[in-house]
Amino acid sequence: MNEAERNVRAIRGRLLSFLRAPHGAGDAQSYRYIEDGIVLIKDGRIEAAGPAAELMPRLSAAVTIEHHADALILPGFVDPHIHYPQTQVIASYGAQLLEWLEKYTFVEEQKFADPAHAARNAEFFLDELARNGTTTALAYCTAHPNSAAALFAAAHRRNAGMIAGNSLMDRNAPPGLLAPAATAIADSRDLIRRWHGTGRQRYAVTPRFAITSSDEQLAAAGALLNEFPTVLMQTHLAENRDEIDTVKRLFPRDASYTAVYARFGLLGPRSLFGHCIHLDDAELALLRDSRSVAVFCPTSNLFIGSGLFDYKRLAGAGIRIALATDVGGGTSYSMLRTAAEAYKVMQVQGQNLPALIAFDLITRGNAAALGLAGEIGTITPGAFADLVVLDVRATPAMAHRMAVARDLKAELFVLMTLGDDRAVRQTYIAGEPALRAKLQDDRAISRAGGST
Ligand SMILES: [Zn+2]
Repeated sequence: MNEAERNVRAIRGRLLSFLRAPHGAGDAQSYRYIEDGIVLIKDGRIEAAGPAAELMPRLSAAVTIEHHADALILPGFVDPHIHYPQTQVIASYGAQLLEWLEKYTFVEEQKFADPAHAARNAEFFLDELARNGTTTALAYCTAHPNSAAALFAAAHRRNAGMIAGNSLMDRNAPPGLLAPAATAIADSRDLIRRWHGTGRQRYAVTPRFAITSSDEQLAAAGALLNEFPTVLMQTHLAENRDEIDTVKRLFPRDASYTAVYARFGLLGPRSLFGHCIHLDDAELALLRDSRSVAVFCPTSNLFIGSGLFDYKRLAGAGIRIALATDVGGGTSYSMLRTAAEAYKVMQVQGQNLPALIAFDLITRGNAAALGLAGEIGTITPGAFADLVVLDVRATPAMAHRMAVARDLKAELFVLMTLGDDRAVRQTYIAGEPALRAKLQDDRAISRAGGST
């Protein structure tokens, strides 16, 4: 094998990749499906993808083919709203948003002042994403700049494309999580210079939400977004009624919660707003006109009792929509489970989420929401070889159900309704298998977390 061939890998199976958003439940023009396909990977990127019969003759005898017989190979999942410091907050009982933050989240997040704690949790977080087939995430960190640095460093070592930012908070939280506007912005700028564009890492300006930032800090966040035209912005919006009432009290002169963010220059095509449940029509217009993204977080909205995301209303208003876990408010790292819960949230409102639309959302759609269309979320030449290999017969219940599934749509619907991390047979990150070894011992991280 020569040097060039050493960096070549071929993966064979059933390939599915979306070309554009499906127009409905049966839009067969929206995707490319190859029953027996090969993805040829060189130096971490997709060199070619097509029918095995066409690509096999082009392969050198030295190239080994990893054949995932019967498995479905998709672009790796993209999670556009998740909190990496909340891996030990997930599954915390009995509170709605503001109490949940105080009682559980702020307590755990203070531990990230310790760089060793941050580093351990960053590794666990990335392991867990990979186990669930998620290859890129837009992640919140804590206010401690070392928390973002730990995540970037761990992701960079794995060549995994992560987008993250230190949370900006300067009021209404424990002192250990607050940083004055000037300090927090200086920390953000340092992180941008160090990590934005380093390998696959990207930065997102991250005001946690309007309640925990002063006018001065929100204005500085808007200025930072303006200063760096390729960084993203993430925050929370209109998740819970008490939250909205608090925003009204804190910003009495603004017409709405969305108007607060608009006043500080935080809306735009690079901005992703988690939840967007309780919005009036004027707020929808602000999001649409600015091409901002509303992020639907179904497991979190149900678990914290926040409300139901009105997909039909927001899509009808012309707003860009992404779908995310929001762990630790969310209850699963799996984008399959998340799609299943999105389906249920829509069902109780008399809406449907066809499997084609769900799988487009968690791959191509979420990548586009992050401004990464063509880079990830697709199996096309030039894209990073971030892939997930799914086994639709992973459990007895799935195999039994599949015995009567008639077509690809039915198979996808079984996957999203019954599937989770057990359905993930392998995850490739930039062409490298991420699940090669037994992942780290969960008990070890629990002990480590408890000792700080
Ligand atoms: Zn969140």
